[in-house]
Amino acid sequence: MLATQLTQKSAYEWWLEPTGAMLVPGVLYASEALIAEMDEKVLEQVANVASLPGIVRASYAMPDAHWGYGFPIGGVAAFDPEQGGVISAGGVGFDISCGVRTLHTGLKREEIEPLKDDLANGLFRHVPAGVGSTGKVHLKPAEIDEMLLGGAEWAVKQGFGTREDLEHVEEHGRMEGARPDLVSPEAKKRQQDEMGTLGSGNHYLEVQHVTEVFDAEVAAAFGLAVGDVVVSIHSGSRGLGHQVASDYMKRMLEAASRYGIRLPDRELACAPILSEEGQAYLGAMRAAINCALANRQILTHLAREAFAYLIPQADLRLLYDVSHNTAKLEEHEVDGQPRRLYVHRKGATRALGPGHPALPEVFKITGQPVLIGGTMGTASYILVGTSESEAKSFSSSCHGAGRALSRHQALKQWHGRELVRQLGERGIIVRSPSPRGVAEEAPGAYKDVSAVVDAAHAAGLSRKVARLEPLIVIKG
Ligand code: 5GP
Ligand code: MN
Ligand code: MN
Repeated sequence: MLATQLTQKSAYEWWLEPTGAMLVPGVLYASEALIAEMDEKVLEQVANVASLPGIVRASYAMPDAHWGYGFPIGGVAAFDPEQGGVISAGGVGFDISCGVRTLHTGLKREEIEPLKDDLANGLFRHVPAGVGSTGKVHLKPAEIDEMLLGGAEWAVKQGFGTREDLEHVEEHGRMEGARPDLVSPEAKKRQQDEMGTLGSGNHYLEVQHVTEVFDAEVAAAFGLAVGDVVVSIHSGSRGLGHQVASDYMKRMLEAASRYGIRLPDRELACAPILSEEGQAYLGAMRAAINCALANRQILTHLAREAFAYLIPQADLRLLYDVSHNTAKLEEHEVDGQPRRLYVHRKGATRALGPGHPALPEVFKITGQPVLIGGTMGTASYILVGTSESEAKSFSSSCHGAGRALSRHQALKQWHGRELVRQLGERGIIVRSPSPRGVAEEAPGAYKDVSAVVDAAHAAGLSRKVARLEPLIVIKG
């Protein structure tokens, strides 16, 4: 049993004391009920990550943690380059810089209710969704390189959105240090027709309404009130990110053995941050981050066009864009000393608290919005970063509800068409090219998002601001 190996430090904090090859403890943030339901494999993966060279403080799992490739999804781990610290492609994940952005619409629920069917059809026609779907943007090799250097800033220059949008994207819309020359031709080829596409089942464009506000002051600062309609877009770096991840996982496996790194699991393939392989991955990964930022920026433009066609008074303004699959160089305080660390967040959201220097001006007082998906049939949440999370999780929080059942298990239990019908009866319009994809993403296949968010809140990782419920879901 998972819980029996853990020491409970407080109501929402559980420690796996270091044993064997572990260099630091494992720390899980969750309620007792979430721990009891958690996949056994998570603990094994948290312990494996804790054994990697140069890890600092602890190997963390967020309340939505579940089994992933090598590192758990919902995992956070920081490494010190000066202490032999490593970088791992599996610690970032296959969908590099997958993330969520939420946009205001300036509309109230009553305004869109009579237009809901038309809006759902319009969005579904206009926003390419599904495995292998292609978009309207086609890029030549030289244009791909510009996109990989420029991110959302590049997309805005191409006419997709406004300069104002960029202030509401992490890294101000452009990740520094990208190296398109270290991204394989195959990865670039996979992306030439995929810009501005949502991708497969777990990715979505959702029209939501605010059903509850928990923190009136922060909600007001974020411009959110009960009844407001917002749009959330969850997508990543598509074929390019996937190929970069695959390419470098292979390369890191070979590098790890050459540098004498003992891997408890080959999926933890990694290279020293300061090695040639480590630096190459960082350059390629940053390029893939820009690809995801550009992709979500184009998707935003498409959403704006679909809204404008039907509801001319709609005004889609970006609240924030946060990635949840990244490794970033950040300054953190460890034992009272500032240190520059590479923080892997895989299925975890950065959650910077008030005053953090990396935040755009608009969020300096409140802390950053933390955008959490739920499911197409339940709530999603907006939280805010806290100062305490710096000491608890290198300023990180959960990224979603987290899977409770595998896609394979979900397929055995649900049928896509039937789910779409049931959700329709509850006033939630779901449009997807793939009934199978819908079944894999059945609300019942996920943990209870409210329990996950309550745990993140109670543990101090981030604080609840508003609850959203779906009206229209465009699924991949
Ligand atoms: P991931 O990036 O790990 O694939 O997904 C992040 C989170 O998105 C999941 O943990 C899940 O809670 C959430 N999610 C998946 N599908 C949907 C959906 O259709 N709508 C909403 N609101 N959230 C979803
Ligand atoms: Mn994601
Ligand atoms: Mn993704």
